[in-house]
Amino acid sequence: MKRRAMHPRIIRALSLLAFFSLLLVLFAFRLVHLQVFQHKEWALRSTKNHVSKRVLDMKRGNIYDRNGVELAISVDTWSVFIFTRELKSLPEAANLLSTVLPMTREEIISKAGDRSGYIPIYKDLAPNLAMKIQQLDIPGVNLESHYRRYYPQKRLAANLIGFTGTEKTGLEGLEMLFDKTLRGYPGLAVQEDISLSESGPAKMRVITPPMGGSNIHLTIDTFIQHTLESELAQLVKQYDPIDATAIVMDPNNGEILGLACFPSYDINNFGEAKPENRRNRSVTDIFEPGSCIKIFAVASAIENRKADHGTRFYCRGFAEINGRRVRCHGAHGLVDLDKAISESCNASMVQISQLIEPAQLYRTYKNFGFGEPTGIEVVTESNGIFKPPSRWSGFSATSLSIGQEMAVTGMQLVQAYSAIANGGTLLKPRLIRRISSPDSEIRQEFKREEVRKILPADTARWLRRMLMGVVEGGTGSQAALENYTVGGKTSTAQKANPKGGYFNEKVVVSFIGMAPALDPRIVLLVAVNEPKGDEKTLYGGKVTARPFANIADRILKYLKVAPDRSLTAAARERQLLQLQHSSEKKEIINLPNMLSSASSAKDLTTPAAKLATNEAVPNLQGKSLRQAMQLVKSLELKAVFEGNGVVIKQSPQPGKPLPESKILMITLSPEPEN
Ligand SMILES: [Zn+2]
Repeated sequence: MKRRAMHPRIIRALSLLAFFSLLLVLFAFRLVHLQVFQHKEWALRSTKNHVSKRVLDMKRGNIYDRNGVELAISVDTWSVFIFTRELKSLPEAANLLSTVLPMTREEIISKAGDRSGYIPIYKDLAPNLAMKIQQLDIPGVNLESHYRRYYPQKRLAANLIGFTGTEKTGLEGLEMLFDKTLRGYPGLAVQEDISLSESGPAKMRVITPPMGGSNIHLTIDTFIQHTLESELAQLVKQYDPIDATAIVMDPNNGEILGLACFPSYDINNFGEAKPENRRNRSVTDIFEPGSCIKIFAVASAIENRKADHGTRFYCRGFAEINGRRVRCHGAHGLVDLDKAISESCNASMVQISQLIEPAQLYRTYKNFGFGEPTGIEVVTESNGIFKPPSRWSGFSATSLSIGQEMAVTGMQLVQAYSAIANGGTLLKPRLIRRISSPDSEIRQEFKREEVRKILPADTARWLRRMLMGVVEGGTGSQAALENYTVGGKTSTAQKANPKGGYFNEKVVVSFIGMAPALDPRIVLLVAVNEPKGDEKTLYGGKVTARPFANIADRILKYLKVAPDRSLTAAARERQLLQLQHSSEKKEIINLPNMLSSASSAKDLTTPAAKLATNEAVPNLQGKSLRQAMQLVKSLELKAVFEGNGVVIKQSPQPGKPLPESKILMITLSPEPEN
């Protein structure tokens, strides 16, 4: 039988198979060769490729307060690496390193393991220890510098500043909002020699140097911030609230000088803080404002010519509107606009709200910024709640005039009050003053930003006087200062129950005001959410007015604001204020405490004192302010002083019968009149 010849196609297939088998064997050999026999060389080559390009760490910009105090900085730290290619002996290197690093020799050896390449051994080493390692000059031990974020003031302004994560990106607060500005650009370096030569240290050549980030200079003043935080801490200790906030704004340029929140946290240990403790509640959290809103309803009535100096309301302790009763804390009788504010009279507010068209009230509130974010430099800001008139009920205008059916942030209140303080202009509150380059050259400056003009200056002035009336004898008397005039408003707002109605026991109490009231330099809010304690004592005047006064006094003195309560300008203003107020005021002027402490008993028995029995006006001509004040007091008279220096004019004239009011008008001048 003839053997059948192999088919050519089979031959071709077999030869292909043989060829591929051979290739496979060759590959296998090559692989074994590379992985076993040439392992060291290739590992080295891969290591060299790995380190041939390196990213150089850039320095993140600093955050400073307005006076250059460091709030967030990048500090130099070092990392220790072992570069196996240059290492002579691991045990020997580990031995030496263990004399400096907080690690034992064994820990170092096990960290290095039996790996080869560039192995990290220790992170975040202080510069002085890095220097020691440098001096040891161990072959194969490399040091690399990088930056770590550090917050030298720890808790100070934490909710505002925020922090950066491990990747050096801002994760919260200003660190997040200004991440691009602060971050800078990393540099690039390559290894100079990429040949396989076994000798010589790995030299790096910088291709692009790293570029540091810009610095941010805040409007915050560390002293003021500290004052706010320590006063809040006292409040928290005393009343154990859910949260509390305090904000100070310069009403003339919109700069926020301090912004404090409770709860807070230590920024350096942000990982341990609950997210809710890190929130900047002064811009994220909203509350029903209560009585402090009344001034805006009054502003609306004045601006829309629905009420003026001659308007009177009547309060019998409550008012009824659309079948609902709004209670007042007392029957105030005949009430004008000033008294409606100073006594916080709800019945008058009900009547005022009925004089104004809904659209007018809406526009005024809107103009003051309610229902809109203020635009301050924060990551998250709430709009608050303020419905348009199309969604109002028959009771809404009344509710809104007493600060219900709406919700605001602390920052919105401060912005709105600042407009009253500065003569009627709504300003954007600002946290950033300027941005500077890494070598401290100014790159950008931020200026006063007007949102809109709301009121004529004289209306704003009148509103300021009303607020002054609150403190100079109204519901906010505990906010009064010895050396400065203060205008402001207390609020005790019951918290709305999500199921409808209001909680009796849950309140937000606040005091917002300005000082000096005649020419305000600061607007300050102190607000406390759900203070605990005896229900009867938890009202705004009690809880927050005193802290307001403590803070305002310290800040004004720190800012070197001249006292305005030296019975000159202040007295004149108070005279105007109280003349507007009907005859209910017991005194035109309260002589300040400085008199009672300065005068001695013998002053009261001077011959002039005997004039009192004559029922004639004493002669004050040529006397100094202090002499005149002492004399007036010793005679149990009252006086309105105007000017400085010595008395040049008085009314009534000396020797005339004492007026029934027992009030003297006295003008002083630096030079005696010829
Ligand atoms: Zn009333």
